[in-house]
Amino acid sequence: MDCIFCKIARGEIPSNKVYEDDQVLAFYDLDPQAPVHILLIPKEHIGSAVEITPQNSGVVAHIFEVAAKLARELHLENGFRLVNNCGKDGQQTVQHLHVHLLGGRSMTWPPG
Ligand code: 5GP
Ligand code: ZN
Repeated sequence: MDCIFCKIARGEIPSNKVYEDDQVLAFYDLDPQAPVHILLIPKEHIGSAVEITPQNSGVVAHIFEVAAKLARELHLENGFRLVNNCGKDGQQTVQHLHVHLLGGRSMTWPPG
């Protein structure tokens, strides 16, 4: 399948990895929007948050677990933001489920 994040998960496209296990990969975003900007993806292809089902939702919990571990390791004691952009209105640009871990600066709310 011609999915850029599947290719990153298979190691066919290089990435700056920060964490990997059998289910999840975390790597630095190419175009960082904060001092810390990491993407967490399931290795299995899930197109977006609307494709989460009772059968595949376990990996979402695992992504949050990994995000919490990375936030501790990267000393984001002041807080951080986890973001999932879904679909056209959500400004999703890569059609493989991913969670952005953003930290190292104060965020604004509401998002644009
Ligand atoms: P989205 O806009 O879909 O929520 O997020 C996609 C993110 O993937 C963007 O922040 C973009 O910078 C990042 N991205 C797109 N292609 C690549 C790539 O080949 N490598 C890495 N590391 N990040 C990418
Ligand atoms: Zn994919």
